[in-house]
Amino acid sequence: PDPTLRPDRLPEDGDRALRPAQLDDFIGQQEARANLRVFIESARMRGEAMDHTLFHGPPGLGKTTLAQIMARELGVGFRMTSGPVLAKAGDLAAILTNLEPRDVLFIDEIHRLSAVVEEVLYPAMEDFALDLVIGEGPAARTVRIDLQPFTLVGATTRLGLLTTPLRDRFGIPTRLQFYTIDELDLIVTRGARLLGVPSDPEGTWEIARRARGTPRIAGRLLRRVVDFALVEGDGRLTRAIADRALTRLGVDDLGLDGADRRYLLLLAENYGGGPVGVETIAAALSESRDAIEEVIEPFLLQQGLIQRTPRGRMLAAKAWRHLGLAAPRAPGQ
Ligand code: ADP
Repeated sequence: PDPTLRPDRLPEDGDRALRPAQLDDFIGQQEARANLRVFIESARMRGEAMDHTLFHGPPGLGKTTLAQIMARELGVGFRMTSGPVLAKAGDLAAILTNLEPRDVLFIDEIHRLSAVVEEVLYPAMEDFALDLVIGEGPAARTVRIDLQPFTLVGATTRLGLLTTPLRDRFGIPTRLQFYTIDELDLIVTRGARLLGVPSDPEGTWEIARRARGTPRIAGRLLRRVVDFALVEGDGRLTRAIADRALTRLGVDDLGLDGADRRYLLLLAENYGGGPVGVETIAAALSESRDAIEEVIEPFLLQQGLIQRTPRGRMLAAKAWRHLGLAAPRAPGQ
């Protein structure tokens, strides 16, 4: 099977309609955007491939989108694959030898590359070269093949899992942040307009406020609210419709979903607020440790609902209040 994925086949219901195509349409991440603009412009002026770029941050914040925008603004081709899909060194070699000059190669989940595939990447990134081993045993020799200059764009939700040699080969490491409610409101408003749905400012704000700081979630919630607006309302996205739809979808007032609340309740009810180790939490919730650390915890940490301590995770006062529970008193108080 072709180890490259076509971006238009990604599972995201009709998502392409909402994906911003240019840097100017991309909302938020101001600092990252301003820097990228300079590096893109400079690469264009020099007529060279742009430096390798690493995007890291929680899922759904726009890593893939920015990679596609880079290719478009650089006026070059875009190829896409992912760490787990590249099983053998030859899979990556095949992609690299087929790149056109200055193309953008996007590797999602780059922290999940196998060691042998990663070895192929080092000379490719550094010297635009491929070291092939020909023959076997004592007769084996290495042949170096030149590649077209290209830009590798890596994306990861877990910077800490990247090996140091790989991380060091990216000239432009960029951290993406959770979005503010104002930024998400602009994204939802634009989305409603693109979907041709009339909306009240209070309606889009309600979605933005409860979107967990994440454009992908904002887009998903917008579509569901539009469903409710069409079927149970008069087609207009109002605050009342948004609130009703989001509550029905199990999205609470802080934007937390069922998985978030199960996490908080586990710490509160079974462990008196912690500290609890992440492995214990993962086992109790039947979630993978990766899902806990990549998807659930970043937002809870950013919201100040939990804290990470050397002995494990602890509920913060805000979480007890949100759950409507009384925090246990520390001994001796
Ligand atoms: P990631 O690769 O970080 O998981 P994506 O780039 O796939 O995230 O973005 C997820 C969704 O959110 C896409 O549908 C994209 O259109 C939308 N999106 C992301 N960032 C923005 C933004 N700044 N403005 C508008 N939509 C965005």
